[in-house]
Amino acid sequence: MKKLSPTPRKLREDHFTELADLIPTMIWKVNNEGSATYVNKTWVDFTGMTFENSLGFGWGMAVHPDDRDNEFKIFMTAFEKRSPFQSKFRLRRSDGQYRWVLSQGNVLYNPQFAGYIGSLTDITEQELAQQATKILMQKKDEFMSIASHELKTPITSMKASLQILERLSIQEGQLQQIYSFIGKANKQVNKLITLVEDLLDVTKIHAGKMQFNHSVFNIEEVLADCVDQVKSHAISHQIIINGADEVLIFADKHRIEQVIINFLSNAIKYSPDADRVLINLQKDEQYLKIAIQDFGIGIPADKIRYIFNRFFRVEESSQKFSGLGLGLYISSEIVKRHGGDIGVESQEGEGAIFWFTLPLSQEPLLNSI
Ligand code: ADP
Repeated sequence: MKKLSPTPRKLREDHFTELADLIPTMIWKVNNEGSATYVNKTWVDFTGMTFENSLGFGWGMAVHPDDRDNEFKIFMTAFEKRSPFQSKFRLRRSDGQYRWVLSQGNVLYNPQFAGYIGSLTDITEQELAQQATKILMQKKDEFMSIASHELKTPITSMKASLQILERLSIQEGQLQQIYSFIGKANKQVNKLITLVEDLLDVTKIHAGKMQFNHSVFNIEEVLADCVDQVKSHAISHQIIINGADEVLIFADKHRIEQVIINFLSNAIKYSPDADRVLINLQKDEQYLKIAIQDFGIGIPADKIRYIFNRFFRVEESSQKFSGLGLGLYISSEIVKRHGGDIGVESQEGEGAIFWFTLPLSQEPLLNSI
């Protein structure tokens, strides 16, 4: 019997099926009742559902249960209006993982309304990147608002001091008061300088441009200096040093001071009802450990692991205490770059012990003598 050659229509259908199966996008078709009559091989491979199980409304089983109702609503609204649609939802992949897909559907006329034909594209990577950017932007806005507030407070107070000074300067015999207001304005300038320096340090760390100038110094002297500096604007607490010894260190003196002052200022700031802070020095063969203990608000257990992160502030207490959440991040970078370790032990309401170590490397010490 003579073999029949395929009709042109059959050829077109074969060609379409081949094309639809090889295209990397999932393709579907529904009839004029909204029931699926076709899904391509890419869909079958992606979802792991059989062709037969996907037909009708079976495809809905692969849509994330939380997205199903919404997706159905979008489709039905477009279907009733006979208009094209576009939506995003999560689709279960054959390995069980849900992936974000972009769904697009166009109306099919043949020549009467014959249903829809549409595609599904995996956009998980773009979606996750978009979500991460959104979170980052929120964090940036949050930080901008905290930073502006922190910078504005000393500026406002400095302006008030300068206005009073201006008035006092035209009155006679007000020298004492003038001095006092110059002192106040100066204090606020120092606060601003510290804030701006912290911001600059973060930029330097990020750009890998934080530089260190090492020298040999006695840690006891540095501690005493730091205590004096902190005490000059915090008379509420007694600072007691234990275990002090003549320990020579090879490090960047200014940066180590910065870490100690940050720990001490925090110890005072976060213990408003206490009256003392303890500094404890310990030494073994290899390391010097400096621990600063306060008897303040402490840190909730679930927050401890984030405490050295950039911009991190304990939310429960952040409204009550000023700060940018940068000091500990900078301190941890400084200590790590010195080959030391940094940590904290604390319980909420029981105070905190912030500590760091510095290597007692003998080589540079011997060379310097
Ligand atoms: P800042 O104090 O400017 O917010 P830090 O980086 O120095 O920034 O500290 C980060 C956060 O860690 C603080 O906001 C605070 O929530 C918490 N913290 C730091 N030191 C202490 C401490 N001694 N006691 C309790 N919480 C602290």
